[in-house]
Amino acid sequence: MAGAANGFRALVFDVDGTLAETEELHRRAFNEIFAAFGLDWEWDPVRYRELLRVTGGKERIRAYAETLGTPLDEGLVRTLHAAKTQRYAQLVAAGELALRPGIRELVEAGRGAGMAIGVATTTNLPNVEALTRATWGRPATEVFDVIAAGDMVRAKKPAPDVYRLALDELGLAGHEVIAFEDSRNGLLAARGAHIPCVIAPSPWTLGQRFDEAALVVDEFSECLPLSRLLTRVSETI
Ligand SMILES: [Mg+2]
Repeated sequence: MAGAANGFRALVFDVDGTLAETEELHRRAFNEIFAAFGLDWEWDPVRYRELLRVTGGKERIRAYAETLGTPLDEGLVRTLHAAKTQRYAQLVAAGELALRPGIRELVEAGRGAGMAIGVATTTNLPNVEALTRATWGRPATEVFDVIAAGDMVRAKKPAPDVYRLALDELGLAGHEVIAFEDSRNGLLAARGAHIPCVIAPSPWTLGQRFDEAALVVDEFSECLPLSRLLTRVSETI
């Protein structure tokens, strides 16, 4: 049974932008695959920042094609996305990612306090697996008790579905969990499931509104020691 610290029993993390700054690598993988498929598409950082408002890779490809007025065949969307996922995993495995400051320590501190550790993400399972192996050197199921991923639910963030799935699997209520996010979409998803949320913006989400957050920090290392964070967050609910 999970331990209770200030009434909190689990820490649940977003993946992209939260566990690690993954977006630049995602952007590179998308662009390489577009070129490989002969598409005259190049997502520069400014455009990608806009596209990040659309959660989910397939959704992002579809949304971009629609802005060009040339909707893609659904089969091609899936093919592009599968190829991009494979390329992204190669880039991650090549050691191109590091955990954000404080993440490793927060996970360890949560474990030390007897809490469950989970992820709630709009990315897919292969991406979570690639990141976990490259950064922790272990399979995702050894690092996380619960993995709620984008393709397991109907509606992606900002809908609360993926957090509700995580709560179901943990057997916990929202107020027993703390979510860690980097974006407004993620914040709204956590709050929609009544989970207090700590935000550390990434370069891609700086300037977004985080009014509903329990706490906003520059880096998750400011969330240590965990006991102090739990007290601060409990005072907001
Ligand atoms: Mg994120």
